[in-house]
Amino acid sequence: MGLLDGKIALIFGVANDHSIAWGIAKAMHAEGATLAFSYAGPALERRVRPLAESVGASFIEPCDLSDDDQITALFEKYRQAYDRLDILVHAVAFAKREELSGPYYLTSREGFRVAMDVSVYSFTALAREAAPLMKNGGALLTLTYYGSEKVVPHYNVMGVAKAALEASVRYLAYDLGPKGIRVNAISAGPIRTLAATGIPGFRSLYSLFREIVPLRRNVTIDDVGALAAWLCSDRAAAITGEVIFVDAGYHILGVTERLVEEP
Ligand code: NAD
Repeated sequence: MGLLDGKIALIFGVANDHSIAWGIAKAMHAEGATLAFSYAGPALERRVRPLAESVGASFIEPCDLSDDDQITALFEKYRQAYDRLDILVHAVAFAKREELSGPYYLTSREGFRVAMDVSVYSFTALAREAAPLMKNGGALLTLTYYGSEKVVPHYNVMGVAKAALEASVRYLAYDLGPKGIRVNAISAGPIRTLAATGIPGFRSLYSLFREIVPLRRNVTIDDVGALAAWLCSDRAAAITGEVIFVDAGYHILGVTERLVEEP
């Protein structure tokens, strides 16, 4: 018996086998879910299709989440394939590269708009389409990072976007709770993915992390996948509106040990 036997999950955000969305897909597949995938655009098909097929998916469709018409068309196709949806995973974020270096106060209006649109609004747009399909209740899940709460150098507009995303989680949880739909976020520690390696300084952040966190290890996509599968299962039936950390304990630190070591 798997935790997700009989459930259908639609997963957004697989770019390759390093993606957090892929870690989530593997865990959900292992727990018995039927999986469907959507990826950003045709250029990614070569990588995403073989991965999706390896976990038995037949619904594998492109969708640029900054385009409402593409979102509408995607769900039209989904409804032709399946008559209901139980789980939706949103593991998607984007900011222009130039907004992730230099100080935050130089963020351009357009850079701010793009980060908010793709990384925040898209989750709400997906919730609106998914909710009517969640006839027996359901679970919506997104991915966030601690840069929403505290300043992380270079994370800049993405930190502001993640704060808005976490607020969206709470408003969506409030709206959709009466329909039995739960909405949560996982706040992951740094993981080497395509999106993360675009952030200046990520490499040193990643290696320093394992030296200072309580568990003295980095976080993997499988760590995130394991929580995601549980959080979207009926075992977590009373949990909604939460941001749950999978960060080896980083967020409990006030100062790192290095700062209090005697010379
Ligand atoms: P990733 O690059 O593998 O995934 C990001 C995905 O977003 C890609 O599949 C990309 O195609 C998709 N995307 C970007 N713009 C899109 C658009 N317009 N339409 C549709 N899809 C689009 O990187 P990841 O680290 O797995 O990122 C997944 C999520 O996890 C993101 O929200 C990210 O902020 C979050 N996160 C990552 C880390 C980390 O250290 N890697 C830590 C905490 C949170």
